[in-house]
Amino acid sequence: MNLNENVTLSRRGLLRLGLAAGAVSVFPGLLVPPGYAQSALAPGVPGAHSKRVLVVGAGLAGLAAAYELTRAGHDVTVIEATSRPGGRVRTLRQPFADDLYAEAGAMFAGGPHITRYTRELGIDLVPPSTGDGGQPAMVYHVAGQRLITPERDGDPSGPWPFALTAKERKLGRKGLFNTYVAPALRQVGNPFEPNWPPESIKPLDDLSFADFLKSQGASPAAISILRLETFDLFGRGIENLSALSHLRDFAAYALEEPGGVFGVVPGGTERFPQAFASRLADRIEYGVEALRFEQDSTGVRVHCRRGGQAETLTADRVVCTLPFTVLRHLDIAPALSDDKAQAIRMLAYSSITRVFIQVQSRFWESDGLSGLGWGDRPVPRVLIQPMGRRTDRAIVEAHTGKETGLRLAQMAEAERLEFALDELEKYHPGIRRHAEGGTSYAWNNDPWSKGGYSAFAPGEVFKYLPVIARAEGRIHFAGEHTSRLSTSMDGALESGARVANEIHAAAS
Ligand SMILES: Cc1cc2nc3c(=O)[nH]c(=O)nc-3n(C[C@H](O)[C@H](O)[C@H](O)COP(=O)(O)OP(=O)(O)OC[C@H]3O[C@@H](n4cnc5c(N)ncnc54)[C@H](O)[C@@H]3O)c2cc1C
Repeated sequence: MNLNENVTLSRRGLLRLGLAAGAVSVFPGLLVPPGYAQSALAPGVPGAHSKRVLVVGAGLAGLAAAYELTRAGHDVTVIEATSRPGGRVRTLRQPFADDLYAEAGAMFAGGPHITRYTRELGIDLVPPSTGDGGQPAMVYHVAGQRLITPERDGDPSGPWPFALTAKERKLGRKGLFNTYVAPALRQVGNPFEPNWPPESIKPLDDLSFADFLKSQGASPAAISILRLETFDLFGRGIENLSALSHLRDFAAYALEEPGGVFGVVPGGTERFPQAFASRLADRIEYGVEALRFEQDSTGVRVHCRRGGQAETLTADRVVCTLPFTVLRHLDIAPALSDDKAQAIRMLAYSSITRVFIQVQSRFWESDGLSGLGWGDRPVPRVLIQPMGRRTDRAIVEAHTGKETGLRLAQMAEAERLEFALDELEKYHPGIRRHAEGGTSYAWNNDPWSKGGYSAFAPGEVFKYLPVIARAEGRIHFAGEHTSRLSTSMDGALESGARVANEIHAAAS
C-alpha cells in the first residue's frame, strides 16, 4: 500500500471521530478497493443454478442480501420477527409534535454501499446539520466545568481544565489526534485488503485503546480530551476496547470515496430500508421468528414461530443476519465449529440508551450555540434531532453508553426522562422550562438486538475476525458485526452483498 501524507480524513471519518470537517490532515488518499465497493451481482434469470435461499432478518444486511440474490435469479424469502423492515434503523415519530422525529438507531449515512444503494433506490441525503443555519459553537462539559467552543469539536475559548503537558497545550484537540492516533493508522493499513490484519499489528489488538494512547505518549489529561464524543461510547469504553478495532474503524473511515455521498436521510433513516423493502415486498414475511437451524448435506431447516404456531421452513442456503446477542440464544444443529460458537457466545455489544426531549424552541441559539454538546458526564453526547432540517421546536437527545446506557436501560421511562433532564441542564441550563415531554430507546431491551452494535475487546479482532463471517456448511453469516466496517449501515450492506456473492458463487 502506498501511503502519502497530507490527505484529509473523509467527511464521515471526521464525523465519526468527532472532528470538524477538513481539519485533520493525517492520512493517505486510499481508494476503497474494488472487492469492497463493487460487490453487486449481475442480474440473472431463474435457471438450473437458482437456489432457494432463506434470509433471516430484514435489517439492512438481510435486505441487501435479498436484493442482490433476487436480482441474480435466486428464489429468496426473508423472514423477520417484527412487523417492519430496518432492524437497528429505527425512526421514532411518537410522541412528538409538528412532524418531528428522532433516530433511535442509525443516523449518519456514508460509504460505498450507502452511495450505491441510496442512488439505486432513489434516496437523497442531506448534510447532517443541527438545523442551526451553520452555527458551529458548542458546549463541552468537562471536569465539572461548562465550556464553550467557538468551533465544532475544536478547543474551548479558555484553557482545557486538565493538566496537559506544555507540548499538548499547544496541540489542541485535533493536534492531539494527529500526534497520538493518526501515525498508527498508517501501520494499521487498509482493513479491506483480503489478508488484513497482518501479524505485525497484533500488538495493537492486544492493547486497549486507552493503553494504546498511553503507549503513544499521551498524558492522562490528553486521554481525557481524546475520549470525548464517540471515542468512548463503544463497548465498555476505551479501557476495554481493542485499540486495533478502533483504529480499524478510523482507517476504514479514512478511505476517500470519489463521488461518495454522506449525510442523513431527510424524513428519517427508516425511509432507506423501507425503499429496499418495497422492492422486495412479496418476498418478505413479517412476524416470523427463527428459533432453530438444522442443516445436513441436502439443505437447511429453520424452525420458526409464526402467529404463535410452530412452522418449519426449508432452503438450500440460509443467510443469518441476527446479531450474535440474539443468535447465542438459538439452537443450531449440528453444532457450529468451536471457534465460531465461541465468537457467537462472547462478542460484546455496546449498551446504548438514547433519551429524546422535545423542546418548545431552540433556546440555545440566543447564546449563539448549535445545541450540540460533548462531555465527561454520564451523558457524554448531546445531539439535536431531526438532523438536516430547520424546525421551530426541536428534540434534544441525551445519548448514553457504557454503565449509564446499561443503568438507564433498567429504569422506567419517566425516570430516564428525569435523569436526562438533570444531565441536559448541565449542558443547556434552563432546558426544563422549555421541555414538553419525550421518549427513550434502550437497545439492550430490544428483544431483537439485545444491544447496540458489536464491540471488540482486546485480542478479539485477531481471534474473532477470521471466524465471524465464515460460512458454516449451508449457513452464511451477515450483519454489521461480520463486516470489516462493523457498527455501521455501510458495513451491514457490505456484509449482505458479500454473502450474496458467496451463495451465488457456490450455486454456479
Ligand atoms: C444507537 C445506534 C446508533 C447507530 N448509529 C449509526 C450511524 O449513525 N450510522 C451508521 O452507519 N450506523 C449506525 N448504527 C449501526 C447500524 O444501525 C447497524 O450497523 C445496522 O443497521 C445493522 O444492520 P444489520 O442488518 O446487521 O442488523 P439489524 O438491523 O439488527 O437486523 C437484524 C434483523 O433481524 C431481526 N431478528 C432478530 N431476531 C430474529 C429472529 N429470531 N427471527 C427473525 N428475525 C429476527 C431483527 O428484528 C432485525 O430486523 C447505529 C446503531 C445503533 C444501535
